[in-house]
Amino acid sequence: MEMSHRSKSFDDIIKSAEKDLRQLLNVGDDYAVLFLQGGATLQFSMVPLNLMPPNNKADYINTGAWSKKAIKEAKRVGEVNVAASSEESNFNFIPKQGELNLSADASYVHFTSNNTIFGTEFKAEPEVGNVPLVCDASSDILSKPIDVKKYGLIYAGAQKNMGPAGAALVIVKKSLLERSPGELHTYLNYNTHVEKDSMYNTPPTFTIYIMGLVYKWLLNKGGLEEMYKINQAKAEMLYDAIDNSDGFYKGSAAVEDRSLMNVTFNLQTEELEKKMIAEATEKGFSGLKGHRSVGGLRASIYNAFPTKGVEDLVQFMSDFKAKN
Ligand SMILES: *Cc1c(COP(=O)(O)O)cnc(C)c1O
Repeated sequence: MEMSHRSKSFDDIIKSAEKDLRQLLNVGDDYAVLFLQGGATLQFSMVPLNLMPPNNKADYINTGAWSKKAIKEAKRVGEVNVAASSEESNFNFIPKQGELNLSADASYVHFTSNNTIFGTEFKAEPEVGNVPLVCDASSDILSKPIDVKKYGLIYAGAQKNMGPAGAALVIVKKSLLERSPGELHTYLNYNTHVEKDSMYNTPPTFTIYIMGLVYKWLLNKGGLEEMYKINQAKAEMLYDAIDNSDGFYKGSAAVEDRSLMNVTFNLQTEELEKKMIAEATEKGFSGLKGHRSVGGLRASIYNAFPTKGVEDLVQFMSDFKAKN
């Protein structure tokens, strides 16, 4: 954990992490892959600081708390057009393609592929013509195959699907790098990190080491096609349990927009929800309490969460329903 990032050993670690990530997502040579610090949250600022100029206009699709935070920072750099928002119904759906009010002169279109708190996801990328697409994929990166060629930039914090906290993965189309203004602070400029292979300063070496192991684990599983099948099966079990509960459990997201990673649901009363969370915790199901802005329950079933755990939770849900 204290290994020098200038050592040959670490050079092998970061190079093979990048190589395996490129293989998993089929990332072309026209994209740079970066391991940065500051989490996904710093990308809320780095994206507009680097990519908004010279137009200083960008479109954002507002589908949840993380989108809102991204919008807040982009507004410090330039003009933000909120192309669509599901805020009026507490972010329980994803706006349809036809509802997007995109601007032709936007520097990019930003969207959040999976809305961690609200349990919704884009089933397909928004279609944005020639405008670069920027995606916060923090909570569904590597959960399914995506076509990287459709994107200008993808970013994701490591800690949900890729490893321990401490790094954010950034995949950026090299042709966009010329937009970064020269007066930008060195550390905030993507070019700095591209030129130094993510080692301008000491990177989070241990996090990157584990991310590399996770990439190997995914490749050994058969890649993202296989992971996607497993994730679909896991989510289906939970949504089936909710939909076949005669209204005892109620999914909180629009059915067609339901997330494969974060399954959010309510019971009839808050009291019953509290009781369920308490009993579940006692049985070893941790972290089921929904985010305070949605209430209810949330089962986060990221890549690392085993199918057996979902089966056990479904059994627990059935027992709890019978008893209550
Ligand atoms: C967790 C999360 C973030 C914040 O990530 P940090 O790495 O903690 O900054 C941003 N966006 C989404 C979609 C998230 O799920």
